[in-house]
Amino acid sequence: MGMPGSGKGTQGKMLADAFGYQYVSTGEMLRHYATHDQVERMHKGELLNDQEIITMMEAVLSTSPDPNKILLDGFPRSIPQAEWLLEQINEDGFTIDHVFHLDVPLDVVRARLLKRGRDDDAEETMTHRFDFYNSITLPILDFLKQKNIPVYDINAAQTPDEVHAEIKPYLDKA
Ligand code: AMP
Repeated sequence: MGMPGSGKGTQGKMLADAFGYQYVSTGEMLRHYATHDQVERMHKGELLNDQEIITMMEAVLSTSPDPNKILLDGFPRSIPQAEWLLEQINEDGFTIDHVFHLDVPLDVVRARLLKRGRDDDAEETMTHRFDFYNSITLPILDFLKQKNIPVYDINAAQTPDEVHAEIKPYLDKA
């Protein structure tokens, strides 16, 4: 988890490669398969509604070769999505082992996003995405902690290699 520009995609892919996990990014899936209406909402920096995203995740989990080896990037992003994910914990051993919170100061993510220049990285859209993140996504961290899911705060203002080196030991131990 982390703000737009915190490096979720970069770190998610590095970790998935290092540990042989299936990398699943809801944002990336949407950039490939979103409907016209969804694309418009993404360009405005809005979150898509929970049921649309959950339907997508149901398909991912039910077709995954090994649901216990998935690295999720960009999901959950709201309390209802987090509640749904927790409901998936089951006797087959599906668990949520680690949550990494990529923590970065606002001025650093702003500079990163302006440099990246994706369609939804324009100044006004960016501000919307930060607002959604703070009001809807950030409260998940406390929610997950209350449910005894391990959440690790990572200093993500470093270089990609340094951030990876900070996260990796938690998974080496697992
Ligand atoms: P990302 O690539 O993770 O930054 O996602 C890009 C955009 O896709 C977001 O700004 C949202 O509009 C949408 N999106 C991705 N994941 C979710 C999610 N879990 N819930 C709602 N909207 C999402």
